[in-house]
Parts: sequence; structure tokens; C-alpha cells
Amino acid sequence: WSRGKSPPPEKQAEKDTETKDDVPKTRGTPRAKAPDDLPVAAYKEKIIDLLLEHPTIVVVGETGSGKTTQIPQYLLDSEKFHCLFENKRGLRVCITQPRRVAAVAMARRVSDERGTRLGDVVGYCIRFEDKSSASTRLRYMTDGCLLRECLGDPDLANYDVVILDEAHERSLHTDVLFALMKRAVSNRAGQLRMLVTSATLDTGAFSEYFACPVLEVPGRSFSVALHYHPVSKTQRVEAAVNVALNLHVREGPGHILVFLTGMEECEQAVGLANSKLQSMVESGKQVADCLIVPLYGMMQSDDQRNVFEEVPEGCRKLVFSTNIAETSLTVAGVGYVVDCGYCKQKNFNPKTGMESLQVTEVSQVQAKQRAGRAGRTQHGKCFRLYSEETFNRSLPKVTVPEILRSNLASVTLQMKAMGIEDVVRFDFMEPPDRVRLVKSLRLLFLIGALDEDGVLTDLGRRMSQLPLEPQYGRVLLAAAESGCVSEALTLVSMLSSEGVWYRPSKHNADQWEEARATQERFLHHLGDHLTLVRVFSMWEDEGCTPEWCKANFLHFRALRQARDIRGQLCDQLEKVSEASVRDAVRAVRNRYRDHRDRDRGRGGPKNGNSVEQALLESLCSGFFMQTARMCGAGGGWLIVGENVLVKCEAGSAMDGSCAEWVLYTDLVGSTVANCMMRTVSAVAHKWLQPLLPKLVEVDLKRLVGIEKKTSRQEKADAPKDASQIAKEREVKVGSA
Ligand code: ADP
Ligand code: MG
Repeated sequence: WSRGKSPPPEKQAEKDTETKDDVPKTRGTPRAKAPDDLPVAAYKEKIIDLLLEHPTIVVVGETGSGKTTQIPQYLLDSEKFHCLFENKRGLRVCITQPRRVAAVAMARRVSDERGTRLGDVVGYCIRFEDKSSASTRLRYMTDGCLLRECLGDPDLANYDVVILDEAHERSLHTDVLFALMKRAVSNRAGQLRMLVTSATLDTGAFSEYFACPVLEVPGRSFSVALHYHPVSKTQRVEAAVNVALNLHVREGPGHILVFLTGMEECEQAVGLANSKLQSMVESGKQVADCLIVPLYGMMQSDDQRNVFEEVPEGCRKLVFSTNIAETSLTVAGVGYVVDCGYCKQKNFNPKTGMESLQVTEVSQVQAKQRAGRAGRTQHGKCFRLYSEETFNRSLPKVTVPEILRSNLASVTLQMKAMGIEDVVRFDFMEPPDRVRLVKSLRLLFLIGALDEDGVLTDLGRRMSQLPLEPQYGRVLLAAAESGCVSEALTLVSMLSSEGVWYRPSKHNADQWEEARATQERFLHHLGDHLTLVRVFSMWEDEGCTPEWCKANFLHFRALRQARDIRGQLCDQLEKVSEASVRDAVRAVRNRYRDHRDRDRGRGGPKNGNSVEQALLESLCSGFFMQTARMCGAGGGWLIVGENVLVKCEAGSAMDGSCAEWVLYTDLVGSTVANCMMRTVSAVAHKWLQPLLPKLVEVDLKRLVGIEKKTSRQEKADAPKDASQIAKEREVKVGSA
């Protein structure tokens, strides 16, 4: 749906306009109907009028009140609103979502409500998948996608209205979009409107930052009885399954929604629940019908449908979900919630300078949101798998915004690519601490995206155009130069799709052992990266079948997803590659099945490296600052430039290895003491030798372009960890 692709306005008007009036025909026969009594419905005119008057407004309403599915349709169907815009191409609204699943599900739902084909009037766009066309009027997209669109079109000329949805989640991309949108709205005086929606009342910060009116849509909800049922952290999956099945057997109508932390837990819970239910039935117990489904962010679009599909009378849905069902998705008719009390959160470890995904306690606000899901349509019950004391004493009050706890390299690079030179003084709503911004600039310098003065390089521009963390972009570009682009594409795709290894529950000891032994056969002696490449190419050689995955304890969905991503990435890499390597990339796309032969045919990698070595050497260009050197036999590895000793996670191909130098792409663990490398490979010192000196050469002062601060200020700016930030914010919120 790029600018160039839209049909001429007259043509489009012809296609869309049924009658002579201004409101285009954008409806067919509905396949779904919005509930009659949605809270936002009463505010339809009010919302339109406010948005006619003000370039920016904030709308606050509880989850399920109709913000995401209805407001865009109100705008689209309002003649009054259309008149505001001079263009003839028809009103275009973009609605951002922090999560892929939500973008897809919402587009599908709205498309069903309007009886149109998905991708036509209503479409979506997420990383690696664009289902929209020139006739798309309501475009649901991830905030990351819109941010990428800002790269080529900072004023968002493609849209008349941008809705930044789920603002309360304070995702990293939404936070950056706040500032970019503020600028775009003012640049396009009157011709671009912005609507910010949030599920929680804490909107003081928004209205202050945007200086705009806030509309509150009061919700209607039923009471939810809270039950505390503490279990140990390690038993949460099984405990959640037991509580849910108990509810299923004992309680009246209402679906059951269980919150767990990630895909693996959800899949595991589905398996466990199915087998427990099976044995209940076998032992002669009377059990009502039950549809057991997972719900998580990395799910394939098709698989998500089950979650929302209506079930026959008397059948209950049992949904095992990540925090995605907290506010962004509404599973209709939930009567019971089981909350494990944890979620997966990205956290930045200031000591290692790295970001990792950690299982973290939810905040009180999150816990309340979770419980609230049970009271949308009836009086509900919520079972918390922790004590009331934990809720009051240990859970933080609010969730720390992502921008204050994550790796900023990708966002910083995109800002640089948009021409924002001084990212340190950028108008963030809640600025991340300066040390972390400087760290991200340093990283970008190390991988060659910025020069010594912090100016975007040609390489950096190309990295910014790839939908990847810059370090991975660097690896792909390096691989394209050294004859292993096919393997690098495979690797990056495998790392972008989540978890290919199927891990049965430890309770099933035989199966667990069988899985371990089977998976061990894939391990490559040079590490986890080549292991992933090997798994993928074996799967392809075996015809990409689900049967093969099953037999080898691999997630078919993850591999299928990796294959899709690989195709997309290949196209994008071709676009940004230099002419000299573009042919090689194109060849991979065209003869993708014979990639190994092709690489040999072209003379293979340079420097006498094997393809495998070439891939590892390419990895070094993006990750040489994430390498570690063996420290005494078996004592672990010492991270370069840091005084941190780390080991490999169990199950890694490098676990127990004596490689002198290793490179890791992930680090897990919450403290320096329990830090572990995940996804590790052996690398040769000679590859690192030319790169490592950069670590000490970088001149931060020049890079940031600022005067050196006094040492006192520097101390105040020392990087903080998530718990520190949470505490300080609480004090602020409290005193405010
Ligand atoms: P909000 O954005 O305010 O959280 P939504 O617009 O997502 O609310 O949802 C409004 C209502 O539409 C929900 O309360 C629910 O009844 C219904 N709904 C939304 N999505 C679906 C879906 N995929 N299937 C069935 N009902 C849905
Ligand atoms: Mg919503």
C-alpha cells in the first residue's frame, strides 16, 4: 500500500462508490455482528465531533468496550468526517497494535463485521506479511510497521487518521510513534488526525504530552470474585491446568481464560490439559465438551481463528494465553480467569549491556486487567496462583514502559534514518536514560551503521531498511558479501521464529528423554547457529512435512513460519543489497531449494572458508561485542570488555565445550550471577582480531556530539536495572 501503488483517485472512487453520495460502499453482508450494547456506541457522535475539532484526542475505555473494532468504522462511515478531508482517494485510517496477533485478529473481525474480504476494505500489515491493497481504508498494523513506514514517509501522507491503539501498554514503538506523530500532525496542519486510545485511566501523561482533550468512555462490568491459590513458580503450568480443569468440571457456563508466560508454556498446558481430560473420560467420569486452545503472539494467522470461533451450546472454551489476552484481544464470554502471576518481559541488563526476555512478575495493574477479563458478560471468578500478600507487597504497582527497559539500537537507527540527528535530546514522552541511548549509539557505531560522528552510513541505511534488529541486518549484509547468504537467511529466519524445539513435560520422563536424545542428533559441533541451519535444511530435504517434525520433536509451525520469513527477508535483502551482490541474493530466491549447490557453483565463500565458517565469520561482524573467551578449563567464558563470567545454557551445542572463543546471540538470566549464554557458537580468534579493537577505540563524546558532563551528573545517569526504575517511578507516581 505504498504511495506509488494507489490507483488514480477517479478510478478508485468509481470502484468504491455505490451511490452518488460521499460515503463509499465499504460494506457487504456481515459475517459477524458487533454486540448491540458496546460502551463506545453511545459516544459515536461525540468522538467524531471531538476529532473534527481537534487534531489529536485521547479516548479511554475499558478493554472490550469497542475502541479497536468500532471507532475506525465510525470514522469510515461518517459523512461528516469525510468532508473534512480534501483528498478524493477516500478516507484512510491506520490503527496500530503493539502485537501482531492483535493486528491480524482485529482486521479479521472488522472485516467480518462489514462483510468484506480481508485485505480489501479492511486489511492488516505486520512484519513479514502485508494483507492490504489500494482499496484498503482501515489498515490494522503493528506499531513497528508504522514506524518503518515513517522511514520513507515521515508525514504519513498515506493516511488521514492514525489511531495509536493500546497506548497504555507503552510499547517501545508506540512510545516513539507518539513523538513522530506529534510532529507529523503539526506538519500536516489539519489534514492528519491522531487518536490515542488507552484501556487505563492513567492518562494524565498523555494529555499533558499532547495537550489534547481526553474522552472517557465509562464501561459496564460485573463483579469478579478473587481467589488466591499460591503455588511455587516452577509448578505454575501444571497448577494452572489443574485449576482450569477443576473449574470446567464444577462450574456453570462461561469460558476459561488462563494466563501463562509464553508460547512454550501455552503449548505445554494444552498438551497436559488434553491428556488429563482424556484420562478423566477414560476413567468413566462425565465431562462436558471442551475446546482447548492456545493463544500467543507468534501464532500463525490461521491458527488464531479457533480462539475466537463460536463453540456449540454446552461446549466450553479453555484458552491458554500469554499476556496478549490481557487488553489487546477479547475472547468473548469468559467467566473464569486463572492468573499465574508472571509474564515474559524484555529487560535490559545494564551490566552486560544486553537485553533478555525474562519471566517477570506481573504488575498490579496487569493482574487487575487479567481478573477483569472474567467480568465482561457475567459475574466472574479469578484464581490467582499467588497469595494476596504477594499481590500487595511484591508486585510492582505499574508496568515499567518498554522504552525504559529495552535495547534501543533498532529504534535509534530508525530515528537516525529519519533524519533525527540528536536522539539524546529527542522529545520522548518519557525519555529513556541517557546512558542507554548512548549505549545504543555505541552499538550502532560498532557494527558500522554510524560513523565516528554519529552520522548514518550507507551500510546503516541499508540495515535500517531491513525489518530486523540492526545486528542481524549487519550479519545478512556481511553474508551477502561472503558467499553464505542462503545460510544466513536461514539462520536469521530461524532465530526470528520462536522455539523450534518441542520439549515434552518433564513429568513424562520417557518422552522427555526421547526428545532430548532425538534433538541431540541435530547438534552441530560448532554450535547452536549451525544447528539451526542444519535443522531447517534437513526439514526441507525431507519435503517440509509436519510428520518429520513430529518424529523429530520439532515444532512444525515454527519451521513453517521460518520458511515464510525467509522468503520475505530474501526479497527485502535483494532490495537493499549493493549491485555487486544482488545477483547472489536473487539466485537464492530463484533457486532456493538447491541453495547448497548454488553456493558451490559460485565458487563458495572466500578466504578458503567453508560455508559454515563463512557464516560464523559473518555473525562476528554483527555480534563481535557479544563474544567471550574461555577462562580456565571448564570455568566458563569471560565476556569481552566486561568482567562477567558466563556459561552456556544446558542443551546448547556448546555446553561442555572447550572452545577458546564463543559468540552468543542471546543472554538469559536476571542477574549477573545467573547470566547464561543461549544460542552460542565457536568462533575463530582471527575473525575477531580486526574487530575487537573497535571496542576500545570508540570516542563517545564525538559519537554523541556533546560536551563531557561533570562526573556527578554521570553518576546520576548510571544505567539502572528494571527494579530500580520501577521503584523510582512508584515514588514519582505516589508523590504526584
Ligand atoms: P476494545 O478495543 O475496547 O478492547 P474491541 O473493539 O476489541 O474492544 O471489542 C469490542 C467487542 O467486540 C468485545 O467486547 C467483543 O464482544 C467483541 N469482539 C471483538 N473481537 C471479537 C472477536 N474476534 N470475536 C468475537 N467477538 C469479538
Ligand atoms: Mg482494543
